[in-house]
Amino acid sequence: MLIVMKREATENEIEGVIREIEQVGYRPHVSRGEERTLIGAIGKGPTPELMEHFRALPGVAEVIPISKPYKLASLEVQPFPTVLEFPTGKTGGGHVMVAAGPCGVESYEQTLTAARYVRKHGGQMLRGGAFKPRTSPYAFQGLGVEGLKILAEARKETGLPVVTEVLSPDQVELVAEYVDALQIGARNAQNFPLLQAVGEAGKPVLLKRGMSMTLEEFLMSAEYILARGNMQVILVERGIRTFEKATRFTLDVSAVPVLKSWTHLPVWIDPSHPAGKREWVTPLALAGLAAGADGIIVETHPEPEKALSDAAQQLHEHEFAELMNRVRALVKALGRSLEGAYTPR
Ligand code: PEP
Ligand code: MN
Repeated sequence: MLIVMKREATENEIEGVIREIEQVGYRPHVSRGEERTLIGAIGKGPTPELMEHFRALPGVAEVIPISKPYKLASLEVQPFPTVLEFPTGKTGGGHVMVAAGPCGVESYEQTLTAARYVRKHGGQMLRGGAFKPRTSPYAFQGLGVEGLKILAEARKETGLPVVTEVLSPDQVELVAEYVDALQIGARNAQNFPLLQAVGEAGKPVLLKRGMSMTLEEFLMSAEYILARGNMQVILVERGIRTFEKATRFTLDVSAVPVLKSWTHLPVWIDPSHPAGKREWVTPLALAGLAAGADGIIVETHPEPEKALSDAAQQLHEHEFAELMNRVRALVKALGRSLEGAYTPR
């Protein structure tokens, strides 16, 4: 349920309501607006008696049920955008970020080369998988801990925050020691113990949409993370399975406006995995941003032809540089900002 405080409610009254929420075994989520404070009481559907009880507390204007199954993710509980801040920029609420890097960390040289040019061309975050979720058990599985160390080096040298995928709950603590944000892959988007584990990691999470998940299911997965106290979640649309075979997946651009009308969380687009082919990556990235995305995460590799995973879809450096030029022009035209981004000379 959502407890709407009176405009003139005092700090004491707000605290009293929070205490009462905890007392009855619910989790409070406070959202301070300019006009009034909203307090979400998150837990199992409340009884009419419990709602009546809260209605009678001092300072309370109204108590209303939260209509959506996702609670903390909903715009009802938090009617303003979540903005995440990194040393290189912000995402959400009009701020756009670009994360880029290779599909997988393959070597020190490969990752550092990519990190340097991602930074040089204006990227704000480095991506790269150390643990790779591969369809085949015989395919390159990533360098593991060695890959995490390489990412940490790249971060140190370039100042770019780093995001990498975590595959299982028991890896979360280790991976979180090395990187700035944790990625949950499409294949793990409904791995509930993993979502709970990253909910406790205290680091921003890039949650990919599962390839056959509805948008409501996507938000329920985000809710698993939020419910553990981690409100720093970025939703990433990365393409879904349809009957179309020309592309690797079908980028659901409509996910952007729909999600943004349901949730305060930043919404990003991954144009690389749906494209499957590098020549289609830039148009999809621009389409996502034009639809209102708060960021993109793009694959680029110093020598894509030699890549150990996703070779066909990774951009060459010159293609990434061109993508950045077009992204800058579009973001400007949309009246949004790439604030904090390094501007290449
Ligand atoms: C990736 O980012 O390299 C990846 C495996 O993505 P997804 O989980 O979206 O397939
Ligand atoms: Mn990939």
